[in-house]
Amino acid sequence: MQLPEPDAGILSRKDAIVARLAKAMPGGKVISAEAELRAYECDALTAYRCPPLAAVLPGSTGEVAAVLRACHEMGVPVVPRGAGTSLAGGALPTSDSVILGTARMTQVLDVNYPDRTITVQTGRTNLSVSGAVAEEGFFYAPDPSSQLACAIAGNIAMNSGGAHCLKYGVTTNNLLGVKMVLMDGTVLDLGGGYMDAGGFDLLGLVCGSEGQLGVVTEATLRILPKPEGARPVLMGYDSSETAGQVVSDIIKAGVLPVAIEFMDRPCIRACEAFAGAGYPDCEALLIVEVEGSEAEIDEQLGFIKQIAQRYDPVELREAGDAEEAGRIWLGRKSAFGAMGQIADYICLDGTIPVSELPRVLRRIGEMAEGYGLGVANVFHAGDGNMHPLILYNANDPGDLEKAEALGADILTLCVEAGGCLTGEHGVGVEKRDLMVRQFAPEDLEAQMAVKDVFDPKWLLNPAKVFPLDASAGHRVAAE
Ligand SMILES: Cc1cc2nc3c(=O)[nH]c(=O)nc-3n(C[C@H](O)[C@H](O)[C@H](O)COP(=O)(O)OP(=O)(O)OC[C@H]3O[C@@H](n4cnc5c(N)ncnc54)[C@H](O)[C@@H]3O)c2cc1C
Repeated sequence: MQLPEPDAGILSRKDAIVARLAKAMPGGKVISAEAELRAYECDALTAYRCPPLAAVLPGSTGEVAAVLRACHEMGVPVVPRGAGTSLAGGALPTSDSVILGTARMTQVLDVNYPDRTITVQTGRTNLSVSGAVAEEGFFYAPDPSSQLACAIAGNIAMNSGGAHCLKYGVTTNNLLGVKMVLMDGTVLDLGGGYMDAGGFDLLGLVCGSEGQLGVVTEATLRILPKPEGARPVLMGYDSSETAGQVVSDIIKAGVLPVAIEFMDRPCIRACEAFAGAGYPDCEALLIVEVEGSEAEIDEQLGFIKQIAQRYDPVELREAGDAEEAGRIWLGRKSAFGAMGQIADYICLDGTIPVSELPRVLRRIGEMAEGYGLGVANVFHAGDGNMHPLILYNANDPGDLEKAEALGADILTLCVEAGGCLTGEHGVGVEKRDLMVRQFAPEDLEAQMAVKDVFDPKWLLNPAKVFPLDASAGHRVAAE
């Protein structure tokens, strides 16, 4: 992965730039000491690191606007940052950029139960949005596995999903409005506490735009009443292809579980060692959860278990109570941490049509063998959003490059299977150079033309999303 050459003029003006930022936002909210900037040198894609020029932690939309205006006038790039949990390098700085973090912007601004909305500052963590409305029996549906840490800011930028998005949709389906600051300091209000607005769907454009168009400071989100009950069933199979076929059959049958999660043997073993969740010794495991009243749950699970039985499961275990349900989910929820204990890994995010699961899983196994690398699969199977974890050793020279090459081949396979490069983690720097495998030059041009409009100087979140070659003309024109 390549970052563009830093602008020597910006680097040489560091002291003046920091002084200007401190003037725009007084009160010790500017970080410029090298040791402190290390905290911002990477996100959860730790293979790539680069400390920024400076970091700022504004507390309000007004302060965000002041910082952006100052950076715009000085020609300094800005990298918006929520909690830094991106797995695509979306929040990776360049050495000539300023990190703009929303970590201090965590307030709940409004809760409207009759209309089922909540308005928050975007630095608030995903889980604490649900926390703010839990007492009244409501919750915010999109649930990335990182929800304890990740911020609504990053969720909107990446259009994040999670285990329960099969039923409830991803961020874009639960986002009603945003306040967004453009690079020149202009503040926009897009959408609001209602279903749809007239005019262009700019809200839809902003959700998933990876910090390329503006900095989102406030968001109005849909909240939902908590379901009466939920119950998971665990299914073990003796091959990944069989488990893939079961997922395909459940979706084809038209039942809508709230979640269908998949884990293969390497992942099952790591999670078992880490969390002791009591998973069976098998090649592939599915967790299928349904929601509703007791009668609705029984009916749906009865149907799902019939499908599961057709494929001779090694184990078919329905949770009898809340404790058993918690144990079934325990291993899955700790999967990424468990894998991190045994190896370095790159977490892919390709999405494929569900009917392609058995074939694609088989091909991934063959490809990994060809590269001599391990791959563990854990993913949201119900919507075909795969997360192959490519295992490598960061201390072994050349291993990261081999893992990147295998990752590129797997993502290309997803595109060829009728899917796409990213289901929920975003493009960032990780998949930037693969965009040409999914989009024709004119399709990419159309996307870059949108950035030209919102960020004519191309100062926001540099070196992400668009391949450096393809975007060179736009960046030169912006200078
Ligand atoms: C263990 C683990 C599990 C995960 N599980 C999931 C999962 O189940 N589903 C899923 O979708 N993702 C998952 N992720 C990925 C990650 O958590 C999400 O992409 C998340 O939304 C990132 O949020 P963040 O606040 O950490 O954003 P950051 O990492 O800080 O930034 C992400 C992107 O958002 C941009 N951005 C940040 N703030 C703003 C802003 N205010 N305005 C505009 N752009 C902004 C950044 O520039 C960057 O491009 C997981 C990550 C980890 C480490």
